[in-house]
Amino acid sequence: PVHRGKGAEAEADPPAGTAVPDPLLSVRDLTVSFPQPGGGRVTVVQGVSLDVGKGEILGLVGESGSGKSVTAMSLLGLVPDPGRVAASTVRLDGRELTGLPFDELRKVRGRELGVVFQEPIASLNPAYTVGDQVAEVLREHDGLSRAQARERVVELFEQVHIPNPADRLGDYPHQFSGGMAQRVMIAMALACRPRLLVADEPTTALDVTVQGQVLDLLLELREQTGMSILLITHDLGVVADVADRVAVMYAGQLVECGPTEEVFRKPSHPYTEGLLTSLP
Ligand code: ADP
Ligand code: MG
Repeated sequence: PVHRGKGAEAEADPPAGTAVPDPLLSVRDLTVSFPQPGGGRVTVVQGVSLDVGKGEILGLVGESGSGKSVTAMSLLGLVPDPGRVAASTVRLDGRELTGLPFDELRKVRGRELGVVFQEPIASLNPAYTVGDQVAEVLREHDGLSRAQARERVVELFEQVHIPNPADRLGDYPHQFSGGMAQRVMIAMALACRPRLLVADEPTTALDVTVQGQVLDLLLELREQTGMSILLITHDLGVVADVADRVAVMYAGQLVECGPTEEVFRKPSHPYTEGLLTSLP
């Protein structure tokens, strides 16, 4: 039995199930707006609060346009231009990131956060080999020599199960299938051993069988490294298998948050109920 409060003033409270003890990431009251063509601003993310526990996989779900990506980018300090974030708090392992100078935030992001997007091949630079692109990240963040970086890229490719990794370093992005390219992106995200991986629709562009393989990989990497994962998807089926807890967004707001199994068994918001009944 969770106290929910009542009346309009209770709306500002984070929904029940939002907070976890000693979270890795803690977001409170995130509100993001964009200018409207006709003048004024439109709020696309409103008062979103969520925690990601240490070693936890939190699924952030909701239909297209509900504000998942803007939420994720904002908490990374990458608000899409020309968005504006209203007073909100983002903490990483207790350290407040809000208001950090851009350079500081960049450092934290480089050291602690890895990001994977929907379109792996489009996210890679077509003009460079994948080996060089991952090595570049390592050289920048760990200051590795060329030879050291190369060795570590092979290790990373092994970690994400790219077959014959040493032979693939010289290949260009277009020579990879979607699933393999997503493994390259994950390897790149792992390069600086992040504590939080933000994966924004990582399987959406992939064939169904490959989707499962990439999700299995994320689970395996979580086991291996203990990192936390914020898994963003419009597909409830994806979080059902993988997420420890799930947060549901609707029209820019977080309407429900709780352990995956509980939310699926007994959704507390009509929108979530609707989502669940639309599952195959
Ligand atoms: P989701 O990831 O859940 O599909 P988004 O977070 O990408 O949704 O978008 C939420 C809303 O914000 C959408 O209505 C989208 O059109 C709007 N939006 C996103 N980025 C921008 C931008 N750079 N400028 C104006 N509006 C934006
Ligand atoms: Mg999105």
